[in-house]
Amino acid sequence: MSLLPVEQAQARLLALAAPLSAESAALSDTAGRWLAEPVTARRDQPWTDLSAMDGYAVHWADMPGPWRLAGAVQAGAAQPNQSLAPGTCQRIFTGAPLPPGADTVVLQEDVAAEGAMIRLIGDGPGAQGRHVRPRAGDFAIGQALLAAGTRLGPPQIALAALAGHGALPVHRRPRIAILSTGDELVPPGAPCPPGKLPASNGLMIAAMARNAGARIEADILVLDDLARMTEAFRAAGESGVDIIVTSGGASVGDHDLVRPALEAAGGLIDFWRIAMRPGKPLIVGTLGRAIVIGLPGNPVSALVTGSLFLLPLIRRLAGAPDPLPRVSEACLGAALPAVGGRADYVRAVLAGGIATPVGTQDSAAMHAAAGANALIVRPAGAPPAAIGESVAILDWTTLGLAG
Ligand code: AMP
Ligand code: MG
Repeated sequence: MSLLPVEQAQARLLALAAPLSAESAALSDTAGRWLAEPVTARRDQPWTDLSAMDGYAVHWADMPGPWRLAGAVQAGAAQPNQSLAPGTCQRIFTGAPLPPGADTVVLQEDVAAEGAMIRLIGDGPGAQGRHVRPRAGDFAIGQALLAAGTRLGPPQIALAALAGHGALPVHRRPRIAILSTGDELVPPGAPCPPGKLPASNGLMIAAMARNAGARIEADILVLDDLARMTEAFRAAGESGVDIIVTSGGASVGDHDLVRPALEAAGGLIDFWRIAMRPGKPLIVGTLGRAIVIGLPGNPVSALVTGSLFLLPLIRRLAGAPDPLPRVSEACLGAALPAVGGRADYVRAVLAGGIATPVGTQDSAAMHAAAGANALIVRPAGAPPAAIGESVAILDWTTLGLAG
């Protein structure tokens, strides 16, 4: 079987997926999720003309005063129903509604009170309407505020709250089961006798997936045994998850059983093996309505293929219109050799626009990878690259993989 170029593999994977159904989620549960329907304002913001400052509400026509003080109004008060009489002012605070007739606010710093008389001592407001936030100046009831497909970040959530919403229609969170295969694996933190290895991929994949908005339904270790692996696939499929991610057992060794186990459980392989380094043995398939991604076992390979395949799949299911990682550019901090037939994803440190490869590019070297914050993307067949040359990069901070 020939190796599939990365872009083709990503396209085939995403073609298996469609955005999940919409649900109504409380605003507190919408951060990082995608809107399934547009959001419209349910109220005027502000609801009436409000003071933007602490001071005195006046008629512009009465400038430059003095004014007789006739009451006070603070934020939270309903609009006073008494109009402001000519020659009078009202004490007013930030966010309070202007009394009918008032059109301007004089800053408290600009006046002096002499008994009930308020006198201008500073420059004054300078123009009619100063320090007033007009009714619906931010948005008006019925106005379209956020389009379907918008990713909800802190400002968008605040906007929805101000617009009168307590919940929003978002795509359901993708639900994921993680199966880490390998006879050598022990749970992280457990005693690790000779021959064993702390299982790190499950935790890493779970953290990546959660960061992207997915819900982890299962994260288990599975022995390299066809019957047990088949049973683990079957159970994951029956649990109704959207994605089954495996790690390890994807290659061509005698103990690499993910493909046969998936088929024995009734699943289908869509493609296997990709023209990339690290990560060649990636498997993509389906089991019932779940999409299966078989990541390689080497931790750095799992990290790189996870960011190029699992994260876009989660984003697609969660409703992102642009699921693939964003490629940007940087200057190369060290020369790189020509690339062979597989695209090279070079772990690098990105600082001040310069991407410098980390010392060890071994696909098991997690220490080196954990010090990186970007991948330099070198296409298959690329010639040697000189220091200072412009290269394509994937910035891990945009993927939630680095701070
Ligand atoms: P495999 O693809 O199963 O041959 O695994 C390749 C390498 O990755 C082996 O050295 C494994 O011990 C290691 N490995 C596999 N699974 C994990 C895991 N969950 N955490 C850390 N290392 C792993
Ligand atoms: Mg293995």
